[in-house]
Amino acid sequence: FAINMDQLHLDEELGKGNYGTVKKVLHKPTNVAMAMKEIRLELDEAKLNAIIMELDVLHRAVAPEIVEFYGAFFIESCVYYCMEYMDAGSLDKLQGGGVPEPVLGRIAGSMVRGLKFLKDDLQIIHRDVKPTNVLVNRKGEVKLCDFGVSGQLEKSLAKTNIGCQSYMAPERIRGESQNNLGTYTVSSDVWSLGLSMIEMALGRYPYPPETYANVFAQLTAIVHGDPPELPDSYSEDSRDFVARCLRKVPEMRASYAELLVSALLGVFLCILFPMRHVSCTFVSSALIAARVMHSLRLTLPLRLA
Ligand code: ADP
Repeated sequence: FAINMDQLHLDEELGKGNYGTVKKVLHKPTNVAMAMKEIRLELDEAKLNAIIMELDVLHRAVAPEIVEFYGAFFIESCVYYCMEYMDAGSLDKLQGGGVPEPVLGRIAGSMVRGLKFLKDDLQIIHRDVKPTNVLVNRKGEVKLCDFGVSGQLEKSLAKTNIGCQSYMAPERIRGESQNNLGTYTVSSDVWSLGLSMIEMALGRYPYPPETYANVFAQLTAIVHGDPPELPDSYSEDSRDFVARCLRKVPEMRASYAELLVSALLGVFLCILFPMRHVSCTFVSSALIAARVMHSLRLTLPLRLA
């Protein structure tokens, strides 16, 4: 069934991204809480319709590691995209650093399984792997969102925010990432996965903007410098797992299958657990705590009630 604005009761704002605002909404006919992303695009109706049709493939993106898509519609020049509401928000809210190794392992496991599902089952390369695009709920489920399925939408977004926090692989920054077919290769996502792991371990973006004179110097460090590493406090196996994601030469990076095999050999043992949840709920409670700090409207007991 198709969702439209009349069926939605608008709730609080959940966050602002580079391209739009995300609000919590209630879908009145089903009583399901959803997250609705508003993306403003100056496009004609035909192009907006093309985007809505391209987004339709998301109805097939059903997996435990993927944020569920409920539907999209447009009003005037805005696309509205409705998805599963993840009540602990995104992983970038983990501040202060030091995500414990088993939790980081569970997050890595979910991300690798999600990315592998997208690629193997839907032939989709994510293209925007970063902590803000990994969402968590209080059940401890870790899911990916915001992957590139609509060429028209991608073309229409004003890409103004390349600098600051780039999760792009060196070859993408250099502009070499397109193969002969003009498509991105999956290994660029593997780099972004490794960088996201390090950000969660450090509690900050691995190339802090304040240590570089400008964005150019920062991007130069990504392209020409040694890749960042997981801190010494993590096990050799985990450090190796991340290092194999962050090899400068894309062909040398591990594939998703290899990363999952590493798990079988004892790397990130927790990926082996049949349960897909971050059972210790460390992540959700830390995220909820961070959200509380960010939003005076929320109180911790209320969120945990
Ligand atoms: P970005 O452009 O940086 O990827 P988004 O526009 O996707 O950011 O999202 C902005 C913020 O809204 C996120 O950081 C997250 O905290 C929140 N958010 C996005 N999607 C959801 C969701 N499905 N459930 C709960 N919160 C969400």
